[in-house]
Amino acid sequence: ALTIGIVGLPNVGKSTLFNALTRNDVLAANYPFATIEPNVGVVGVPDPRLGTLAELFSSAKTIPATVSFVDIAGIVKGASEGQGLGNKFLANIREADAICQVIRVFTDPDVIHVDGKVEPQADLETINTELILADLQTIENALPRLQKEARMQKDKQAVVAAVEKAREVLDAGQTVFASGIDREPLRELHLLTAKPFLYVFNLDDEELGDADLKARLQELVAPAEAVFLDAKLEAELVELSPEEALELLQSSGQEESGLDLLARVGFETLGLQTYLTAGPKEARAWTIRKGATAPEAAGVIHTDFQRGFIKAEVVSFDDLVAAGTMAEARSRGRVRIEGKDYVMADGDVVEFRFNV
Ligand code: GDP
Repeated sequence: ALTIGIVGLPNVGKSTLFNALTRNDVLAANYPFATIEPNVGVVGVPDPRLGTLAELFSSAKTIPATVSFVDIAGIVKGASEGQGLGNKFLANIREADAICQVIRVFTDPDVIHVDGKVEPQADLETINTELILADLQTIENALPRLQKEARMQKDKQAVVAAVEKAREVLDAGQTVFASGIDREPLRELHLLTAKPFLYVFNLDDEELGDADLKARLQELVAPAEAVFLDAKLEAELVELSPEEALELLQSSGQEESGLDLLARVGFETLGLQTYLTAGPKEARAWTIRKGATAPEAAGVIHTDFQRGFIKAEVVSFDDLVAAGTMAEARSRGRVRIEGKDYVMADGDVVEFRFNV
């Protein structure tokens, strides 16, 4: 499964956020035999459609899609040169599929800041600089070999050109992700800053409603997505009953918890989407990458489903809800028969037909 690595300077609220995430862990509830690793938090992606499906099909339970967050401690200035836990940090971050950077905005004087003052822009530059330096190192190491290969293999010339372009971007202090350059030819280098980024700004609760502040912070990190939350509040919310939590959220002017928002944005950042299945046993969201075909989607349920794929019966969630039952959707001609080239759409409710 794809994972999002949580990084950030010390004392920005990473552990607070991560503990809230793991308190919310869906693995324990739905996968009793799963191994739960201490530095991985698996959270459900909220999807109100599941509740609706469960009503229509009298499903015994709902199972959401999940997204996994990994706590990657140890970034400090100089990490790219192996300082602090530098090397371990870089190895861990290399394994993540996306990077979630936590940035402190809250100003609690009781919590010291590593650099003496709360300055979101400086903090994010500190971290990105370490990642950029690590990538420049990777490029310096790889470039002579790539240039040599390009003399023999013409198709490698595009890779060399892309790597040189990436070096320019990095030299100018930008991440490869934010630069928008084509990342495809760079894949073999596994550059850290070519991973998708998202940013969590850890605010004071009074700041959660400050639209101007949030717009300024969002601008700092565009085109990456920003999530605004109060980690301390999130840690309190997970201790409450759903009703109490909702009341507390609404009293601070929010409609959903920061963790729910983070799960949704994280899922999106990983380039994932869901399709839905429903029956008496469960209503469930399954995870596929964007652009997956029907047989690939079937393979997520079971590899046999992919191998023996015949066809998929597909109805859009909205059409199914409008019809009220699968039978009625069918008689309205809303249930489509799709073959092996069908590209799945978000919100497809599916039944697969396959040979065993
Ligand atoms: P980490 O070093 O990034 O993992 O930071 P921690 O999660 O350990 O947080 C450092 C300190 O800041 C702890 O005392 C937290 O209680 C506090 N803290 C974390 N998030 C917030 C927040 O949103 N507001 C306030 N006021 N304090 C916070």
